[in-house]
Amino acid sequence: MTDARALFARYVRQRMELADPPLYFAAPPPAAPAADARRKRPSDAPQPRWLRDAPPIPERGIVVPAPAEDLFSTDPLVHLDLDALADRIRTCQLCPLSKSRTHAVPGEGPADARLVVVGEGPGATEDETGRPFVGRAGELLTEILAAIDLPREQVYICNVVKCRPPSNRKPNPAEIEACVPYLYRQLEFLRPAVILAMGGTAAETLLNTRQPLGAMRKKVHEFRGIPLVVTYHPAALLRNPHWKKPTWDDIRIARQLVAQSG
Ligand code: URA
Repeated sequence: MTDARALFARYVRQRMELADPPLYFAAPPPAAPAADARRKRPSDAPQPRWLRDAPPIPERGIVVPAPAEDLFSTDPLVHLDLDALADRIRTCQLCPLSKSRTHAVPGEGPADARLVVVGEGPGATEDETGRPFVGRAGELLTEILAAIDLPREQVYICNVVKCRPPSNRKPNPAEIEACVPYLYRQLEFLRPAVILAMGGTAAETLLNTRQPLGAMRKKVHEFRGIPLVVTYHPAALLRNPHWKKPTWDDIRIARQLVAQSG
């Protein structure tokens, strides 16, 4: 026995002989778990609800390469940031849609958004407010984003054309051609982890193809190095609830790609 222990044993014995009240010793505190066992490993983390039964990430589809760098580019948008672009869009007169608009709708969301949603063009409520996806289709989009734990405020939301086509008709090729450089610049500036193209107009424009939407789903395409997932437009879901499940699958593919991006 060490000296200290022997002395302590003698002290306790003396107290007992003197009928002193007994001494109680607290149990030693449990050993602290090792530092890295306390840290939650990803495999221990509960699975998010949106990931349950989510489809696996599908094969690669169409690849749209970035245009070759042009040192002497005369593109007037090439150095604009999101705010400067929005100012340009609000005063744009490049196509006849500018004549009938109330407000142009540049898009909205944070500059560090990891997901960019691209729709077709503003509807009546968007034209009135100057904000994208704020009508009924927008409410559905907001719900979908919340369901994948990406609140709308964390996502950049925009459209192929920035002014409302009359009576919500599809934008025509000339209107798209005039307006699409704004979208390209937005995507170049944002360089998100994933682009979600909602509806045929967004998918066809970004992938430069006329394939039917059904054929563009279930693949991970690439737009200028950025993964791109195609799904139905929320307005189409309001008309046809049968597309809700396939859309939910597509959205969860996009969400997994966002999660993988770190
Ligand atoms: N539909 C779109 O494509 N975009 C909007 O902003 C609203 C409805």
